[in-house]
Amino acid sequence: MSFRLTAEQAAIREAVRSFGDEEIRPVASAYEDDERYPAALLEAAAELDLVAPHVPEAYGGAGTDPVSTVLITEELWRADPGVGGSISAADFGTGMILEYGDEWMKEKWLPKITAGETPIATGISEPAHGSNVAGMETTAEKDGGDYVINGTKMWITNGSVADVAIIMAKSSPEEGHAGITAFLTPTDVDGYDATRIDNKLGIRAQDTAEIVLDDLRVPEGNVVGELDRGFYQLMEFFAPARVDVAGQAVGVAQAALEEALDYAGEREQFDQKIGEFQAIRHKIAGMATDVEAARSLAYRAAEALSGGEEATRLASMAKLFASERAVEVTDEAVQVHGGAGYVSDHHVERFYRDARITKIYDGTSEIQKSIIADELG
Ligand SMILES: Cc1cc2nc3c(=O)[nH]c(=O)nc-3n(C[C@H](O)[C@H](O)[C@H](O)COP(=O)(O)OP(=O)(O)OC[C@H]3O[C@@H](n4cnc5c(N)ncnc54)[C@H](O)[C@@H]3O)c2cc1C
Repeated sequence: MSFRLTAEQAAIREAVRSFGDEEIRPVASAYEDDERYPAALLEAAAELDLVAPHVPEAYGGAGTDPVSTVLITEELWRADPGVGGSISAADFGTGMILEYGDEWMKEKWLPKITAGETPIATGISEPAHGSNVAGMETTAEKDGGDYVINGTKMWITNGSVADVAIIMAKSSPEEGHAGITAFLTPTDVDGYDATRIDNKLGIRAQDTAEIVLDDLRVPEGNVVGELDRGFYQLMEFFAPARVDVAGQAVGVAQAALEEALDYAGEREQFDQKIGEFQAIRHKIAGMATDVEAARSLAYRAAEALSGGEEATRLASMAKLFASERAVEVTDEAVQVHGGAGYVSDHHVERFYRDARITKIYDGTSEIQKSIIADELG
């Protein structure tokens, strides 16, 4: 295992960092204030191969390795979790298509996603069933050559801006988790009705929606993977998704650390820079150590995605550790800013709110601990 980035990975980091500093950070607050989805920036990022970069070149992606992929997410979140996060989340579902989808699904949708023409959404969670994925109530009933889907999906990233979505539904409700299937559907069809959720704590530029599925008709050829195997496919899909969240957490924590360092070097109290007080120096040392530890675990988990039995355990560990540290580090960054950290004049106020989501989605911290314990036997 290498703890050094390759020259190519380092170059990717630099390229994303420049894009983030020049194109994302200056407009981040405006998108956040307006709760506006950054469609134009998605296209600009796509020109640099930053949208769904892991998708193979044959389908318009860059075919990045898992460490490069998490690096890109980290840097996009370092720039801004709302705007950069919208870019990195545009691929939330491409893994399912790549791994299990038919060739026509890949040819039709992946080039549009990698080109930044549309993000993809994946509907798993429901109002009454989040952590308990197997409890979902959305049904898919066979009717001739179609499935007819009914139910409500909740908190769906890209739900109201995506042209395409993967919907998880019970095709054999009596079978519990063994009766769930993944369906691919365009969103401009009757029966798909998305309402944007616009009162989020953070990542406000990101699109999150409630989706009502009312007799949504999906041809049987739109089953992604195998009928009734959706739950098992999801379990595979979650490992890279959780490593991605670890990258998000590292990115926002790094951003907060940098803001704290800058502020500590400028702000004076008692006739000296606050960064000269040992209390602040120790705070920053702790923050930096947490970020570095989280980063190491995130990259290690990313490497494990290439194969091996450790992938599930390390992905959950990375997600758990990085997200918990991100919440603490952003909190400390607010503290370093004093009162100035409590208002939106400084980026840390936003980062503090943005970081919180990483402990919740793609499986809460509590669920990650259960997975880790199960994996340990
Ligand atoms: C901004 C945002 C974006 C999201 N994007 C998507 C998306 O694109 N697609 C999608 O499908 N979902 C998405 N989600 C949903 C997200 O994955 C769920 O919110 C999350 O899985 C938790 O489910 P829940 O909200 O129903 O909480 P609940 O499951 O009701 O959990 C409430 C609390 O109980 C705890 N708990 C529950 N079960 C257990 C248990 N067995 N042991 C210990 N503690 C437990 C939880 O850890 C949590 O603390 C998103 C959510 C948000 C907020």
